[in-house]
Amino acid sequence: MAERTRIVLKSGKDQSLRRFHPWVFSGAIKKIHGPEREGDLVDVYDNKEEFLASGHYQHGSIAVRVISFEAVETDQDFWDQRIAHAWKLRETLGMVSNSRTNVFRWVNAEGDGMPGLIVDYYAGVAVIQTHSIGMHRNLEAIVLSMKKSAGDKLHTIYNKSESTLPDKPGITGKSGFLLGDRERGEVLENGYRFSVNWVEGQKTGFFIDQRESRRLVGEYSQGRKVLNMFGYTGGFSIYAMGGGAQLVHSVDSSGKAIDLTRENAELNFPGDKRHEAKAEDAFTYFKDMKEAYDLLILDPPAFAKHQNVLSRALQGYKRLNQRAFEAIAPGGIIFTFSCSQAVSRENFRKSVFVAAANARRKVRVLHQLSQPPDHPVSIYHLEGEYLKGLVLEVE
Ligand code: SAH
Repeated sequence: MAERTRIVLKSGKDQSLRRFHPWVFSGAIKKIHGPEREGDLVDVYDNKEEFLASGHYQHGSIAVRVISFEAVETDQDFWDQRIAHAWKLRETLGMVSNSRTNVFRWVNAEGDGMPGLIVDYYAGVAVIQTHSIGMHRNLEAIVLSMKKSAGDKLHTIYNKSESTLPDKPGITGKSGFLLGDRERGEVLENGYRFSVNWVEGQKTGFFIDQRESRRLVGEYSQGRKVLNMFGYTGGFSIYAMGGGAQLVHSVDSSGKAIDLTRENAELNFPGDKRHEAKAEDAFTYFKDMKEAYDLLILDPPAFAKHQNVLSRALQGYKRLNQRAFEAIAPGGIIFTFSCSQAVSRENFRKSVFVAAANARRKVRVLHQLSQPPDHPVSIYHLEGEYLKGLVLEVE
């Protein structure tokens, strides 16, 4: 076997790896010995030639995504172990054989020791998104491991990496079925039914990470007038209806999402007149709003995809939350979220704090929310905690 490329770091740039942070930034590299092939497994050393980690190499700001802090070969055995380990955790969490929930995240990138790999599980269907060339190159082995781990609990595998893998020459086959050919199906989440289209839907088809927060919305909904802003396929709305809301309005700028929301409302509460879904822009809706809602959910798309647009993103959160504080009825509850990896919990909280002060409302924090445990976060990789939420009471 050809010798692996060796990457030597600049003096002092080894500290984050010694604390098991799984990324090597290009600026930390002193020298590269050997070919610089994207997706290759490379070894990383400090400037005294001491081994630190092995990982996938790629051109760009994150040059190496660490696979192991011990020397490893990424052969079939290696992937078998990693994938089985991830499956086992979901078994421990009671997700694999659960009569009320059959949708969960099977592989959560760094949180499962597999940077660049996301796998979501929809009642027998695995939807894969690779974010790195290294994971793309190892897909065949990973898929074999998935079949071994899940056995007859897996009948379809869809690779949906068209939008997540960078455009590079020679990288083909980004999307398509790797097992079976079913394009959509129905899943259960906490006993509620949802129609999911993993081929055409956003991300892998459904926002699995809001499962626990949706349940909490259900608990607060009795008798309330609910606005689910940025509703996508209506997840929060269905729980609000189940929780006894007086009325539920779902708003999303995507007409397709609104169609799916109506379908999901019909699936769970056929003919129920309490629900209305509207395809509209959030800010326009706030401007023309007539209803006095007393439960408001704000779950916008990631405003900051990169660190360099952070301040604009924080402005966006402030503006949006201010609209909500100005509009909500006295005694109302706001569920507000940020799913931007680049926005820290503290920064998000500050934006919401300024929004509340600008609207001159008295606001108390009731809950601080995060992603559920099938989206685990490595304790060494804080960026993995991307989902932040606050439940607020507004006097
Ligand atoms: N709350 C959802 C997930 C929201 S994802 C759930 O539980 O599944 C963010 C949603 O915001 C997307 O569906 C997107 O179509 C919508 N969106 C993006 N920009 C918007 C805007 N300006 N106004 C309203 N909706 C918007």
